[in-house]
Amino acid sequence: MPFTLPTLPYADNALEPTIDSKTMLIHRTKHHQAYVDNLNKALDGQPAFANWTMDEICVQLGSIPETIRAMVRNNGGGHWNHSMFWQIMAPTGQGGAPSAGLAAAIDASCGSMDSFKKSFAEAGMKRFGSGWAWLVVKGDRSVAITSTPNQDNPLMKGFVDMAGTPLMGIDVWEHAYYLNYQNRRADYLAAWWDVVNWNEVNRRFTAAAH
Ligand code: MN
Repeated sequence: MPFTLPTLPYADNALEPTIDSKTMLIHRTKHHQAYVDNLNKALDGQPAFANWTMDEICVQLGSIPETIRAMVRNNGGGHWNHSMFWQIMAPTGQGGAPSAGLAAAIDASCGSMDSFKKSFAEAGMKRFGSGWAWLVVKGDRSVAITSTPNQDNPLMKGFVDMAGTPLMGIDVWEHAYYLNYQNRRADYLAAWWDVVNWNEVNRRFTAAAH
């Protein structure tokens, strides 16, 4: 089995009260585990892709045989997205702040950090049903906000509205917030800034810009 569930870099209860420990436990060990298992199932008996990384699978989704592409898109996307999500969160007070370079890129695209946060939350609110809101860096090194349905992500060029390298993304599936916030997605989106791991977002920005 090539892909495995990652461990968390913090305890299940470390993001409380923003995200409760039961949500963290179920989200990772049930939902994320199912994406991993179904991705492995889809790729079983496909030796051509045995050495592909998750990034390669997302970027080259169009090269995956049509017979398994939907399975790989949904479950591979689910695995990539959640692996990123756990990394770009940290306990309140431990996530640092946007780097000068990232802050400048956000200011250039969104006007200010405040309007970025507002637009990012709006992208999450406007995503009908299940999906993700993203901050991506594009080929010209500018950053932009986008959202995707289901478990799609901006690496899936040709399959999504805006392709780019994700710097951060928030899961707006109900399973990400329903135990604590019920139907109040806006409250979840507003509270989530307290647990953003800017240190990791900065690292992704630097890596993508070189
Ligand atoms: Mn999820």
